[in-house]
This record gives sequence, structure tokens and C-alpha cells, in this order.
Amino acid sequence: MKREPKKLDRYFFEYTTHAAKSTVDEAIQRAKAVENDTDKERRLKVHECCACFYLRSKIGGAAMTMQPCASCNVDQMYGSTCTDVLCLACAQKYSLCKHCGGDLGMRIGRRVYPISDVPSEQPKPAGTGVFLLPLKKDHEGQK
Ligand SMILES: [Zn+2]
Ligand SMILES: [Zn+2]
Repeated sequence: MKREPKKLDRYFFEYTTHAAKSTVDEAIQRAKAVENDTDKERRLKVHECCACFYLRSKIGGAAMTMQPCASCNVDQMYGSTCTDVLCLACAQKYSLCKHCGGDLGMRIGRRVYPISDVPSEQPKPAGTGVFLLPLKKDHEGQK
């Protein structure tokens, strides 16, 4: 493949300069939004961590997609291939991000996760309830 060189006229320079400035401005706005959690109410309503809510693009392929919740195994229907790890009820129950499954508050020091006791290679039987362990308070189970 061979491309033609860009035509360096006034329009080119103004367009590329504006595009660069918009990219930087948008990055700063997003950084401020995530730092200040500016839309916290709506974020908690959809039960997503700050990364998923403010920063991760959720553009998926245009195909209705069915995926079971990783915890309760109940089928969830999505309008695109951009699916969530958990259903809303399980995300709320275990204080996890519905979309990525990480801790809702991005607490990297969280000691207790609701870990499935079913090895991940084994398919979960359909419709047999919750496989995640009950969520304990973080101070429990330490030491
Ligand atoms: Zn679920
Ligand atoms: Zn997330």
C-alpha cells in the first residue's frame, strides 16, 4: 500500500491543531470527572467502577448478545457484544462492578472476594443458583 502525502494547506493545519487540542481537552475533562466522581449517583445506579463508567469505551459489535451472569448463571440479554460480567443483583450483593467484575470502589487491598468454589474450567450447571461465596467483611478471614 502506498499513500499520497497530505496536502499542507491552511485548512489542514487548522483542522489537525483543533483535533489535537480537542483530544487533550477531552482527556483532561475525563480525568477530572473520574478524579472527582462527578456523576457518582448515576455510576452507582448502574453499579460500575470509575474505570468502566468514566474511562472504558463500551462500544460493542451490533449484535444482540446473551451471556449468563458469572455468579448466578442467569442469562442476561445485551443490545451489543459489549456485555457485563455480572447481573445487577449479584454486582450489588457482592459490591462489585457489574461491567468488569472488579471491586466497585477499586479497593486493591480488598482481602475477601466472593470466589467461586467451582473450578473455572468446569461449566456451571444451568440455573443452580449462586456459586459465589457469601461476602464477608474485609476484617474477617484475615490472619
Ligand atoms: Zn447474577
Ligand atoms: Zn469496572
